[in-house]
This record gives sequence, C-alpha cells and structure tokens, in this order.
Amino acid sequence: MATALTANDALTKARIDYTDRNVESRRLHLSARKVLPGGNTRTLFYHPPFPLTFVSGHDSVLVDADGHEYIDLLGDYTAGLLGHSDRRARDAAMAALDVNMSVGGIHPAEQQLARLMCERFDLDLVRFTNSGSEANLMAMTAARMYTGRAKIMVMYGAYHGGLMYFGAGPAAWNVPFPIVVGRFNDLDACKALIDEHASDLAAVLVEPLLGSAGCVPADPAFLRGLADAAQAVGAVAIMDEVMSSRLGPKGLSEQFGVESDLKTYGKYIAGGFSFGAFGGTAEVMGIFDSTHASHVPHAGTFNNNITSMAAGNEVLANVYTAEVAAAFTDRGDELRENIAQVLARYPLALCVSGSGTMMAIHARARRPTDGESAADKDPALQEMLFLGLLRRGIYIAPRGMINLSLPVTDDQLATVLGALDDFCQELAAS
Ligand code: PMP
Repeated sequence: MATALTANDALTKARIDYTDRNVESRRLHLSARKVLPGGNTRTLFYHPPFPLTFVSGHDSVLVDADGHEYIDLLGDYTAGLLGHSDRRARDAAMAALDVNMSVGGIHPAEQQLARLMCERFDLDLVRFTNSGSEANLMAMTAARMYTGRAKIMVMYGAYHGGLMYFGAGPAAWNVPFPIVVGRFNDLDACKALIDEHASDLAAVLVEPLLGSAGCVPADPAFLRGLADAAQAVGAVAIMDEVMSSRLGPKGLSEQFGVESDLKTYGKYIAGGFSFGAFGGTAEVMGIFDSTHASHVPHAGTFNNNITSMAAGNEVLANVYTAEVAAAFTDRGDELRENIAQVLARYPLALCVSGSGTMMAIHARARRPTDGESAADKDPALQEMLFLGLLRRGIYIAPRGMINLSLPVTDDQLATVLGALDDFCQELAAS
C-alpha cells in the first residue's frame, strides 16, 4: 500500500513538473481542443496531462513550443526514418513538382518506384495507396475477392490501421469484415483456429513484429508455420510490413524465411510524404489487372501522386538502400542490447523488446511474447519512464516505443543510455 502511494506521489510530481516546464505547449493544447476533438488529429498523440507541440526539428532533434530540444527517438512511429534535415526525398519531390503538380494520368515515376519495390521486397506486382491503413484494406479485399471467402484472421493486439485495431480484440469501430482473433506466437492455437474456419477463411493478416502492441517480434517458426497453415487451407497469407519492412535488407518476413502471398507497406518509404503499397504474387495481384474485363477495381486520386512517387524513388534507390538497411538494423540491435544492460543493473520491473531499429521499453519484468503479455504492465511506471526521459531531453512514445532515425549519432545514443541509467537510479533510490 505504502509503495503504491509513493508511486502515485512520484507520478503526480512528475506531471506537475511537466506542466510547469511546458507552459506554451499547454496553452496550444487547450486552444487546439476548441477545433480538434481532444486537440489533435491522430488519437495516439494525446497523453495526460497534455502533449507537447513541436515547432521545428533538425537531424534527429525535435524542438518544442517552449524551446526545449529533444533527441528524437520516436522517429514518427517509423515514418520519420530520414530525420528532420535530410534534403534528398524533399528535393526529389520538389523537382517533380517543378515539372508537374497533379498529373491526372500515368507518369514514369510510378513504374520506376514499382520496379524498385518489386526488386527490393521480392514482389511480382505492386499497387500504391495513400497510407498503410489503405494498403491493408486493399490486401484484405484482394484476399476476399481472390478466395471468394469472407473471414480475416488477425492477432490479438495487432494494429493494421485506424479501422483495423485489435488492441483488445475485435472492436465496433473496425471495418465490418468477419474477424477471427488468434494469439501471436502460439502456432498450435492459431492452427486450430485456421482449421476451424478453413472453409470461409480468406486471409491471415499478421505483423512480423507486433509494432503498436510493443515491438514484439514473431518467433520465425511461428510466422513460417502460420503462413503455411493459411496457405494449406487455401487462404491468403498477408504480412503487414508497414513498419517492419525497414528491418534488414528486405524486411522482417523475408529475414524470417516466410513465404507469403501479399505484403503491405507504408511509413518511411516516401521519406515523410504519405505512402502506402500492397503487393505480392502475380496470381493474387493479377485480380487488379485492368486490361481484363473482370478485374477488381482499385481507385484513389492520390495513389500515384507525384511527390510520394518521386520521394519514394529517391529513398529506395539512394537513401535507404538494402545495404544501408542491413547496417542500420545492426545498430538498432546493439542499442537494444545496451538498453537491456542498463535495465539489468536495477531492481525495477522494466524490460526491452524489439528487433533492429524498432524497440520498446516495457514497465514489466519479463519481455512480452504476444499482445496479451505486452498489455500487462504497470501504467504508472510506464508514464514515469516517459516523463522521466522527456525531462532528460529524450523523446520516445508514451507507451515506450523507440524507432531510430538515420541521422542519430553514437554520441546521442550514449546520451540516451546515460539518461536511462540516471532515471533508473533515481527511481530505484526513491
Ligand atoms: N500497419 C502497421 C503495422 C502500422 O504500424 C500502421 C501505422 N502505425 C499501419 C498499418 C497503418 O498505416 P497508416 O498510419 O499509414 O495508415
């Protein structure tokens, strides 16, 4: 009882300190709430007592409305891979805009980017969308049209987009597809569900690493077995690589040796411009072949928008090449090991999970293995960690997520480890 009160007192103190330090962000939050529900247009940006407003950034540094500088370890939930100063994607987009603003027809950059995507990620055919959410909606629809079946299997805790959020299983706000919920990393249970629903199962949709649920990587054997089991009953195996395609030269599912039918993409590929894509085998993607009278339609005014296409070409061809991706992923693994070493020095219920440059620090003693265990944590300690790192100039997600961006320096990562150590020391001593 006494410990709980102490923890609550410490959290209250941290919130008061945060409020005192961030007067302008608080003022902006209150005024934003007059025109935006909750003061934002992306729900996850709200956290109590109010979120920071960022006014500028450079390299891997963000500056807030009260003038504080933070090492940006969030990397816009993986979309901000290039950091805040890299001009290459921006210049490519500007050069394209100099030639044509809004084409309203075919232009060469879309097939160039499609070729880069197919070569890089081992796809036969690809289509572009405006977001990862849309890419997953199209992939699920492709599977339903291809199989003539209705149901989609997802994992408990998975996030596939704004209308495909299974953080606590199925929810009324999701797309009205019939959903079957499996348990991540539990192959036997998933296989049993696949067999139970075999005759009406259109697809299994899975993240190779549960991203929003806490950077929980799949056991490679689980992911391979899941895709095989789906295909054995005639369902389409879809890998949601919207976040995890940045891991390793060809994305995480390829690293795990998974043979899937479709994969979906988004986030960093257009260097910060909006982006989404879905692609895979000629057999499944062929249903969209508009030279055939019976094709499935796929529309979208901005699917081939000139800025995203030009920037995407630059990112895949020159910025985040397969070689850069491989080396950067190793850097992430090293940081995660260093974080684990810091945490191991203190008797605190904190652990780190992840793969490559995507990781999360969890307020729980043992590394989570699925959506259920990732959700089972100490919310007060999680918030203390977030506020404690902010106080020390480090910006991560309130839920503990970290995604490295390319310009981050070794010195900055050393500063992060020092800040984490200092936070743990202070907490362990209190
Ligand atoms: N899939 C995964 C695994 C994601 O993490 C996200 C976004 N966080 C999406 C899909 C949706 O992408 P977008 O936000 O571009 O719609």
